[in-house]
Amino acid sequence: MTLHVHKYGGTSVGTADKIQNVAKKLVGEKKTTGNDLVVVVSAMSGETNRMTDLAKTMQQVPSAKQMDVLLSTGEQVTIALLCMALEELGQAAVSYTGGQVKIITDDAHSKARIEEIHTANVQADLQGGKIVVVAGFQGVTEDGAITTLGRGGSDTTAVALAAALKADECRIYTDVDGVYTTDPRVEPKARRLDKITFEEMLEMASLGSKILQIRSVEFAGKYNVPLRVLSTFVEGDGTLITYEDEDEGMEKALISGIAFNRDEAKVTLAGVPDMPGVASAILQPISAANIEIDMIVQNIAEDKTTDFTFTVHRNDYEKTMQILQDICNQLGAEKVSGDDKIVKVSIVGVGMRSHAGIASQMFTALAEEGINIRMISTSEIKISVVVDEKYLELAVRTLHESFGLSAE
Ligand code: ASP
Ligand code: MG
Repeated sequence: MTLHVHKYGGTSVGTADKIQNVAKKLVGEKKTTGNDLVVVVSAMSGETNRMTDLAKTMQQVPSAKQMDVLLSTGEQVTIALLCMALEELGQAAVSYTGGQVKIITDDAHSKARIEEIHTANVQADLQGGKIVVVAGFQGVTEDGAITTLGRGGSDTTAVALAAALKADECRIYTDVDGVYTTDPRVEPKARRLDKITFEEMLEMASLGSKILQIRSVEFAGKYNVPLRVLSTFVEGDGTLITYEDEDEGMEKALISGIAFNRDEAKVTLAGVPDMPGVASAILQPISAANIEIDMIVQNIAEDKTTDFTFTVHRNDYEKTMQILQDICNQLGAEKVSGDDKIVKVSIVGVGMRSHAGIASQMFTALAEEGINIRMISTSEIKISVVVDEKYLELAVRTLHESFGLSAE
């Protein structure tokens, strides 16, 4: 028996009509394919944000534990409504919260990790011909406390269930019809990709493509769950995320996509004494404040001092500047400076691995448009540059064109 796990995000279940539409699709799919179906749903669009705002009216910083109790209700609403819609169409269905399935997580509230999934009850229901509807984004600790998996966590629920149930495919239904070469709102000539590798998708997702929660892609790669992103509203095959096919040369193109991230800021500590332990002395307090660091550049020392620059999320800019000022005083460094009007633009592609000259093509294309590069970082399948915010669109379009990604 073929088993598919489907996941419908908030916009796909955002209204009563849309939930009924999903129910119809599922019934149709079950009739035509005979597949077993497990369906993971998100909260109706806007609900998680609405509840987050509501919580803030009670307490300035509500505990993660209570936030989980609150936010997990969003998905619980959707599972009940979808089951009602399915039953109304004559399709037997059963709803499960994360706790009812026994999606066991650690106790890191608001960003819990799944440790184990009990599948016996779900399997019995599938055998009984039911469509199994599971609340995404949530789990339960060994002690029975409700947890959530972080924003966008329903994707991870779907992939984890697919892995645990050894599903044939995990389909993420959303409001876009697949993964594109870049964001079509920035470059209208962007094309849908038929296939992309897990590795590339991770780079695209972490750089702000925002289609899938990053952790779900990691999970799918680790457990080899074929993952497909497709539209709830338009027919199509979407984009399959899978392993690199060495023989076929799955992606013939060198570059699969242009990713970007608008919410970047960069900070510099200048005139830092050049001696062992300094990088750690700078970064330790930053990570202790739970601030994630992305690119790091340390210049060659001149006069026994060096400049140390790194990027953080724009929301963490003020806090980072403050911490850095303290470090500056402690280390006797020269000064702190920063810029929160920068963005990161990256070219991504497994094809890059076997080709030289990609970086120079990228830098030449940007130079020809007069775009100044402020920072550079590279990995095997990605080259990223930091540029001024005002150049974001131009940089993305220029690179999209230069690497032949634009549709005819
Ligand atoms: N409702 C949660 C969120 O908005 C989880 C999800 O939709 O995946 O982040
Ligand atoms: Mg989502």
